[in-house]
Amino acid sequence: MADSPVISDDQLASIREALLEERAGLLAQVADLDAEADVNYWRESGFDDDPADAGSASFERETAQSLSNHARGLLTQIGDALRRMDAGSYGLCERCGKPIDIARLEALPYALLCLDCKRRDETGR
Ligand SMILES: [Zn+2]
Repeated sequence: MADSPVISDDQLASIREALLEERAGLLAQVADLDAEADVNYWRESGFDDDPADAGSASFERETAQSLSNHARGLLTQIGDALRRMDAGSYGLCERCGKPIDIARLEALPYALLCLDCKRRDETGR
């Protein structure tokens, strides 16, 4: 069992809980952001009359859209992490298959790569 992740069941359970919590928060965020990204949201608040307002409304909409996309990306990663937990492959580096450091997982529960591979990624080597 040398290659199995060095994560206890308790740690796994608390990481899963953190992931579920973050997912719930993100889902609420996405719902809010999508409402803001909807042009009707701003029309209804009377933002259309003044050109300056319309400009800032479209800026707000774009911001909401990009935040929403970002949150969706995180949701995908969280979903993947939860799937890997169910499959029993959670905590193993996607590239080299070695266990990912528990401290790293606690800081970034949906990390796919171990620190070594991540560093290699970032330095482009
Ligand atoms: Zn690795």
